[in-house]
Order: sequence, then structure tokens, then C-alpha cells
Amino acid sequence: MAWRSALMIDPVASDDRREDFAGTLHPFDPDAPALRVGDLSAQRGDGIFESLGVVDGHVQEVGPHLERLAHSARLCDLPAPHLGQWRAAIAQVSADAGAGENVMKLTLSRGVEGQTVPTAWITLASAPDNVRSRTGGVRVVTLDRGHALDVPARAPWLQLGAKTLSYAVNMAAIREAKRRGADDAVFVSSDGFVLEAPTASVVLRTGDRVITPAPSVGILHGTTQISLFAFLAQRGFDTAYETVPLADLARADAAWLLSSVRLAAPVSAVDGEAKAVDRALTDEFNAYLLSPRD
Ligand code: PLP
Repeated sequence: MAWRSALMIDPVASDDRREDFAGTLHPFDPDAPALRVGDLSAQRGDGIFESLGVVDGHVQEVGPHLERLAHSARLCDLPAPHLGQWRAAIAQVSADAGAGENVMKLTLSRGVEGQTVPTAWITLASAPDNVRSRTGGVRVVTLDRGHALDVPARAPWLQLGAKTLSYAVNMAAIREAKRRGADDAVFVSSDGFVLEAPTASVVLRTGDRVITPAPSVGILHGTTQISLFAFLAQRGFDTAYETVPLADLARADAAWLLSSVRLAAPVSAVDGEAKAVDRALTDEFNAYLLSPRD
């Protein structure tokens, strides 16, 4: 990891009235030990995070990412983050970004076991080179996520829809996709509906209609997808949240995986069947997604 900067945050209560947070923000060396070994992020993956794209020093979509951080905190019974403090921390870290693409990661952990204070930090590192995924596309395999569409309502303790630190299963799905000769996975519910990729939202285009699975099925509501839908609406596309039968993934004219750092990666194959990549539209999506967005 090519680190650029890191900042430890002493989280203040969400109703704290101060305006200057400088005394609560502490730069640290990301290559040196920084966390207590009893931190529940390390012990149990108990915490939440956000990954933001930073393009030529501009942090993309700070508001939507902080909104989702607060939403994840609610779903996980974590103390509400003070958004003003996080904004101040993001601004401080972004000063080290420079030109090119970087990734900023915000982490809020439940803190050290036995204590009640959350641990919070931000890192900034250079982003991986995603040009190949954005142009050539990604081959996906569909993988059963093992639960039906109605599970978020039946089992809210699964914290589906929160961006938790527990990504071991998501990483295992990507390894399984690679074992099957693909690049990435698309999770499917046990009753046969498209959900999301392990680190991205899924969108499908049929004619001038672009759809994505509704977040109520227990998936993350992607900030990139929300932003792209606003762009598409301006371009005259019809956009909608739907329940998406698996067969629609192969049937759609085009499909993309969308996320904050890789941006729009066109799907070039589904379970070994080639899918046409709409290169011109994909280039347009990525030009928009790389432009400064708030
Ligand atoms: N779904 C999952 C499971 C993700 O991990 C991500 C991003 O990491 C997304 C969707 C896309 O979210 P965003 O566009 O906000 O990066």
C-alpha cells in the first residue's frame, strides 16, 4: 500500500458544539503500530467504514459517504459520528493527496474491548490502477449469498445494508470468482435475484432504461450508483430501483459494477457467457465519475 497520510480521531459526541476540531485530530504513521490489540475492529471486525475516491485532491461525494457512515452507525448501534468533526478530518487528510487518484478510508470501530469509546481513523493511499477494469471490463460469476430477499426484515441483526468491517466473506467470494476463471462476483439471493458485487453495486441497461436492485433487499446503497443515476436522468435515461431476476443480468444490453474507487467497470462476461461492453457509454460514465462531485 502506498500510503500518503493517516489521522487518528478522538470522536466527540454528535451534539458537540465546538467548531475547531484540531485538538481531536492526530496524524500518525500508517506503517507503525497504531491500534490497541484489543480493538474490536481487529478482534471481531466490529465497526464500519467508508472508501472515498480522491481525484486530483478533490474528495468525491463527502456528504453521501458521511450520510452512509451515520446510517451504518445506526444499524450497528454505534455512537452517531459527529459529521462536522469527520468533515474537518477529511479536509486535513486530503491536503496530502496531490494529483492523480487516491483512496481515502474512514473507519469507525466499536473501540477497545471492555471500554465504551469508539476508535476512529482515516487513511489516504494511492488508488490501484483501474484503467483495465474500466475499459476492458470485468468477467463475473454469480454466487449464491445464501439468503432470500426478505431476510433484512426478518433478521435485522445481520446488519445487512450497513458497510461493516466484516468483509472476509466478500473477499472469499472474489477468490472463488478467480478460482472459476473470472475477475469478480455478483451475489444472488437464494430465491434467484441479483443483489450486489462484493465491493460494488450492479446496474443494468436495457434500451434507455437503467435499473439497479433496491437497497431494501439488504445491500449497500452505493454512492456511485446514486450519483450516476442523477447523471443518467439528466442524459434522458429512465432510472429505477427494482427486484432484478438473475436472468435479467444476461439479458440486459449492458451491465456495470459501480464503486467509489474503481468507478464504472463494464461487465464483459456472466458465468462464462460473453457480454457486449458499451465502451462509449462506459467512457462517458467514467469521465463524469472522475469529474469533481460533491
Ligand atoms: N456494495 C458493496 C458490498 C460495496 O462494498 C460497495 C463499495 O465498496 C458498493 C456496493 C458500492 O458503494 P460505493 O459506490 O458507495 O462505493
